[in-house]
Amino acid sequence: MIRTVALIVPCYNEQEVLPVFYTTAVKVIDSLPQYAFTLLFVNDGSKDETLNILKKLSEKDERVKYLSFSRNFGKEAAMYAGFCNADADAVAVMDADLQDPPDLLPEMLRALEEEPFDSVATRRVTREGEPPVRSFFAHRFYHLINRISDADVVDGARDFRLMKREMVDAIVAMSEYNRFSKGIFGWVGFRTKWLPYKNVERAAGASKWSFWGLFKYSIDGIVNFSQAPLSIASYMGLISMLIAFIMVLFVVVRRLIFGDPVAGWASTICIILFIGGLQLMCMGIMGQYMAKTYMEVKNRPHFIISDTNCENPVRIH
Ligand code: UDP
Ligand code: MG
Repeated sequence: MIRTVALIVPCYNEQEVLPVFYTTAVKVIDSLPQYAFTLLFVNDGSKDETLNILKKLSEKDERVKYLSFSRNFGKEAAMYAGFCNADADAVAVMDADLQDPPDLLPEMLRALEEEPFDSVATRRVTREGEPPVRSFFAHRFYHLINRISDADVVDGARDFRLMKREMVDAIVAMSEYNRFSKGIFGWVGFRTKWLPYKNVERAAGASKWSFWGLFKYSIDGIVNFSQAPLSIASYMGLISMLIAFIMVLFVVVRRLIFGDPVAGWASTICIILFIGGLQLMCMGIMGQYMAKTYMEVKNRPHFIISDTNCENPVRIH
């Protein structure tokens, strides 16, 4: 039985879109009087008027709660802070730019209550309005991560998802520092229903993701959920060893038959450069994992909250 619902909204420099988001979300919330809603905004160290807008909203509407970070910690940290501080029966994450349509909420709540699911997730079936290069690499990424990891990430999956308490508790318990939520949602399991919808473009303001930023995020996703790059590195070492062995045989036999060992300076240089590059690349892969381990071992908090109107907030975690 779901009585209370919390909507976590990460916001980073969203002054243009917040008022629109608020009115749109409230319309949907008001159409569902059987639930007590909380709008839990997480201000992720915005440099614009976001925090002031949130404070004003919370003064006139007591359903509005905010957590404000001491600096920008990233959307992953913002979502985690929301999960740690939301104590509702059902919790959803939702972008502030209305790319996660609040209109889907009634259907999500209905599915969660009437059907045997623990979570209702959304996925975009179109990517209209997105640069084609970005779509192409996004498709490749989903294909790759599903093949080499146990994370089970659906193509076009959004972070927009409504979850029952049990699943939220599981996510809070996954306190790893390097977070990749799409992987974490899949990893914890539970029965998930997928709602497809057509891509919606940002209502106002600009995307916070550059192509390079997304590229690094996808590498993080793979390193966090798969050991495959490490195996690939070892296999590459094995294969080049085999090739080297064959070449040694070739050189020795040629020496015995033709008696001229000194030839092929150019090919030698090529091989040295190739092997050198391979070694550096494999060390780089290992370095990626070591860097992640280093960050996990340091056990730094995911977020620091400097200002909030929540009662008994988890301020640092
Ligand atoms: N966001 C955040 N911290 C960041 C970057 C983004 O909290 O460092 C929030 C942002 O305010 C928005 C959501 O994450 O609510 C998604 O960001 P955006 O719309 O820029 O990403 P896109 O939809 O382009 O992938
Ligand atoms: Mg967006």
